[in-house]
Amino acid sequence: MTSLGARSLVMAAFAASTAFGAACSPAASDGAIPSADPKTDGSETGRGTGAAPGGATTPAPGGDAGSSTTDASTEPRTNGFPAKWIDGTACGTDPEIQTWKYSEDTFILRQSLCTTFEGPFMYLFVGASKALLVDTGTGGVDLRGEVTKILAGKNVQLVVAHSHSHGDHVGGDGAFKNQPGTTVVGLQPATVKAFFGIASDAPGVFDLGGRVVDVLAIPGHQAAHVAYYDHETRLLLTGDTLYPGRLYIDDWNSYRTSVPRLVAFVDAQRPVSFVLGGHIELPKTGPDFQYGTQVHPNEHALELGDKDLRELDTAVKAMGNTPTREVHATFIISP
Ligand SMILES: [Zn+2]
Ligand SMILES: [Zn+2]
Repeated sequence: MTSLGARSLVMAAFAASTAFGAACSPAASDGAIPSADPKTDGSETGRGTGAAPGGATTPAPGGDAGSSTTDASTEPRTNGFPAKWIDGTACGTDPEIQTWKYSEDTFILRQSLCTTFEGPFMYLFVGASKALLVDTGTGGVDLRGEVTKILAGKNVQLVVAHSHSHGDHVGGDGAFKNQPGTTVVGLQPATVKAFFGIASDAPGVFDLGGRVVDVLAIPGHQAAHVAYYDHETRLLLTGDTLYPGRLYIDDWNSYRTSVPRLVAFVDAQRPVSFVLGGHIELPKTGPDFQYGTQVHPNEHALELGDKDLRELDTAVKAMGNTPTREVHATFIISP
């Protein structure tokens, strides 16, 4: 964020493969490619978060298998997570978007790394009257076509919203604008808050028809950042605030307020099955993938858990006024 010249170089280097700039990667702004850090403890990066890859599961509140204290009968059956996301290692045959049916009415979509090194994840929650799409990727791929296929036969209005307003999360908005039965939420913090009824620190409540999603403002990575909590699946979407990769922070004071707010939000009767973010930038073991690479062999799982959120909270609190790069097993704080 401080040295746009260096950032432009990085952006130019990847312009050929990305429709939009590397908006989520302010660490590139100082020209430094995050280096391998010996503190990375690969032995823990692949630890389970409650779902066997590819296996059916019910959400495990708290993110830890075996620690469930809630009635599993109230939770929807899910398909867990795929054994492997498209990871840029098979660009000749991989689709531009991988769609994963997490549950009967919950979908996770990944834009191929072959189309953008950001490889962003997008989420679709379907209720009885509305469907909520969170994020649209970088654009340049047929996300609307994919969403339309998923929603075929469902009589729902589509609401297109975002985790935050960086280009790799809003780049596909254009395809949804001025489409029948579709609302695209704006990108300014005030617009987002007004749409979801977010009042200051209190979450907004968005009803999809028999399915309620709570929306909490969590600025810091970017000013319009929000988190989504789906009561049905107990999934917590954290965008670029927490994911298995480099957590870039634009406004530290906001970020270090938002993370404890997110913990308090969870603690207020919102048990988390999994924490799902916007990217994967870690392998199962070893240091993070080099910034800008479009090949992610042996990727870390997408899903994190409640304990990762609390680990982030503890780390952020310990940093106080002075954020520093800090490598954890499942994320890297990269102010
Ligand atoms: Zn971002
Ligand atoms: Zn991003």
